Amino acid sequence: MRRTGIKIGRVFGIPIFVHLSWFLIFAYFTYSLVHEYGSRYPQWSTRQLLSLGLLTSMLFFGSVLFHELSHSAVARHYRIPVASITLFFFGGIASITRDPDSAGQEFLIAAAGPVSSYVLAGGFWLLGRATPDGSMPNALATWLAGTNALLATFNLLPGFPLDGGRIFRSIIWGITKNYSRSTRIAARIGQAIAYGMMALGAYWAFVAHSSGNGFWFILLGWFLLTAARQSYAQVATQGALRGLRAADVMTSEMPTVGRDLSLEEYAHEASRTGRRAHLVVSDGRLIGLMRIEALQAVPRQDWPSTSVQAAMISREQLPWTAPEEPVLSVLERMRSANIDQLAVITGDSVVGLVTRDSILRVVQARSELGHVTGN
Ligand SMILES: [Zn+2]
Repeated sequence: MRRTGIKIGRVFGIPIFVHLSWFLIFAYFTYSLVHEYGSRYPQWSTRQLLSLGLLTSMLFFGSVLFHELSHSAVARHYRIPVASITLFFFGGIASITRDPDSAGQEFLIAAAGPVSSYVLAGGFWLLGRATPDGSMPNALATWLAGTNALLATFNLLPGFPLDGGRIFRSIIWGITKNYSRSTRIAARIGQAIAYGMMALGAYWAFVAHSSGNGFWFILLGWFLLTAARQSYAQVATQGALRGLRAADVMTSEMPTVGRDLSLEEYAHEASRTGRRAHLVVSDGRLIGLMRIEALQAVPRQDWPSTSVQAAMISREQLPWTAPEEPVLSVLERMRSANIDQLAVITGDSVVGLVTRDSILRVVQARSELGHVTGN
């Protein structure tokens, strides 16, 4: 879900994405605001109601962005890069590229969001106090004060991956010094909260006949459940890979091809053996890496007349790792560079290849053998 969205711009160099669901929710918010204002202030014209509804929704989503930027600012303060911010149907997500180094850092990064929302709520409340009752700015400020306070409070629920869950995890992490176990506990509570919200939503929708609130809660609960499961799976992966180095997961049988091979012949070779990557050698010397993905960049009719050397990644540009690099950091590099394999190099020779598949196989094997234990 994280990567599906439309980029709307950058703030402090962080790309801001808007998830497609956001447009639906924006329309829904505006519609219900117009409806709500209309029943409370029947003296306002349709045009006034519409513009106030639009402005309020925009300021609300601005508030969500401010919340996410606050997390990002604290993360950056600790030199943790923020890859992107995505606005979702009920809030946002700041994609922080790595886990914080300490429980204290995590606590402050997580707390920054709800604190900023409470600050906004306070600001709008003051604006409401300063404007006359029944005026348009007053209606807007009152609604935004309440909604920002609600947003902060909802985010403080102690289940992962909500801010409250992160705060909760950082506290257990600080006490037990056990990062994975803290995440597991917080993710379990997150799942319990998600099921609770869905049950409450179902009750409202089908028993109390408040279907609007009910379906909203079911949707939120479902989203939380998915997110909690994902973060749990991520921790399981980290647990399985802890202590392993590139040399432990690499494949050392390295198929090679000559640089003069045509792409036509290469395609045959790859489909015959099922291998997706080959080292390209010349006089026994490594000159690059050829991958079947590179075939797609060359038009089919040019394959017989194009050599592997023309399509390969050259030795200088080859992403590589040392055998002693921890697998977790290898995986992180593969994710952020969006690549599927790294050559393992010692001195001047390639000793193996680490692929996402080879890492995944280790995770699966270790999970089946019960290596994902209490740490
Ligand atoms: Zn937050």
